[in-house]
Amino acid sequence: MSAPDESVVHGSKAPDKAAPKDLPALDKLLRDCAPLVAQHGHTLVANEARALLDGLRSRAVASTLVRAEIDALPQMLAGRVDARMQPNLRAVLNLTGTVIHTNLGRALLADAALQQVLALMGSPNNLEFDLDRGARGDRDDLIEGLLCELTGAEAATVVNNNAAAVLLGIAALARGREAIVSRGELVEIGGAFRMPDVMSAAGATLVEVGTTNRTHPRDYEQAITPRTGLIVKVHTSNYQVQGFTAAVDEATLAPIAHAAGLPLMTDLGSGALVDLSQWGLPAEPLPQAMLAAGCDVVTFSGDKLLGGPQAGLIVGSKAAVGRIRKYPMKRALRLSKLPFAALEATLRLYLRPERLAQDLPTLRLLTRPQSQIAQLALHLLSDVAAAVAPRFTVETVALQSQIGSGSLPVERLPSAGLAICAADGRGRTLEALASTLRSLPRPVIGRIHDDRLLLDLRGLEEPALLTSQLPVLKERLA
Ligand SMILES: *Cc1c(COP(=O)(O)O)cnc(C)c1O
Repeated sequence: MSAPDESVVHGSKAPDKAAPKDLPALDKLLRDCAPLVAQHGHTLVANEARALLDGLRSRAVASTLVRAEIDALPQMLAGRVDARMQPNLRAVLNLTGTVIHTNLGRALLADAALQQVLALMGSPNNLEFDLDRGARGDRDDLIEGLLCELTGAEAATVVNNNAAAVLLGIAALARGREAIVSRGELVEIGGAFRMPDVMSAAGATLVEVGTTNRTHPRDYEQAITPRTGLIVKVHTSNYQVQGFTAAVDEATLAPIAHAAGLPLMTDLGSGALVDLSQWGLPAEPLPQAMLAAGCDVVTFSGDKLLGGPQAGLIVGSKAAVGRIRKYPMKRALRLSKLPFAALEATLRLYLRPERLAQDLPTLRLLTRPQSQIAQLALHLLSDVAAAVAPRFTVETVALQSQIGSGSLPVERLPSAGLAICAADGRGRTLEALASTLRSLPRPVIGRIHDDRLLLDLRGLEEPALLTSQLPVLKERLA
């Protein structure tokens, strides 16, 4: 009954405008939302209610609040509380064409790994408890045998990621001494992981040998001094030097290192554990081949081609891996129980190599035949076209996927998908569409290339995850 007076005071002619005093007090709103408080507790609901009322009060003062909004307060509050409980880390659809995408969480975990995480993480477990002896154990003991069996190594350990494995390996084997690396391998893997910086962080002095394109055995031999602690090889995973090149492979370098009493460490990065050429994929160097060539330490990632969780795997000789395990920094870099459970379950899948292309989702995506992906594109074409019409047109296209995460940088996998063009031909319109796709409940991530938004369907195993969102897309584009 006071609203008309307010309207008169503020000179407003709209009878449905609300004034600040029309807003309920915090306590009243919380009483009206008792079930919500019962479900979530007082703190969260009261915090959100306060913020909600503050916002509405400012709008009431500015005379932009209508009464209907006050009636909707309980629903608005429930919506806010619900939104606050939604994690920022969300599932997305990776239609970028890069299968192992570092920005999109890299490898997808196998069912066996997911189930193991689910089964173990809510329960006490024997992470560092020896069930036979009933005494304190070492988490490495749970996984070392399996890693040795799969790679042919004498010893193995695991840490938080491959960057940590490289850092720890260099620190344990060459702290306060010199480590020799070819100039052609002083790579930046991404972010702040640059070989020279890792060397100094590990307390080793970097000795560069050779040139960017060519390094010879004698370059290494001449660089070895009494101060040398280690020779390091780095797999140049995210670029390739082509043309007039020469590098010294591990089989040539190992005798040179060993003749001087030095260990040889190689950072493989991507870490395929089986020969990928059996599925028509480009071959990657395998840890087992590096060990057979004489490397004392081989490091690789858990969440690239291996298809597991983030982890750094270290395999090698008893002596070198023993020094790494005993190095104090190991404790700070150790693998947590959550990825540990997933890693062990993933590695066990390698005991059944014939099933790998079905069991490992990342390998399953990489080995999807183009014909199957093209069929999916054709199947989705009319529904997607209807959802984005009339501002956009859609056609099916042949595409080139890539493996990603630095693996095999120049190789491409024939793929297929949808290309969306703006009917007005404007790039800005396409950016707006990409943004709308990212705003969907399960964000859809494509890529814009040559004035087309490309959706590479290699990454879409469940088409319903896309089609079920098309009505929302249509509505948001309208
Ligand atoms: C990816 C990569 C790394 C870093 O591995 P993370 O598991 O991401 O820490 C290091 N070296 C090489 C050669 C790589 O390809």
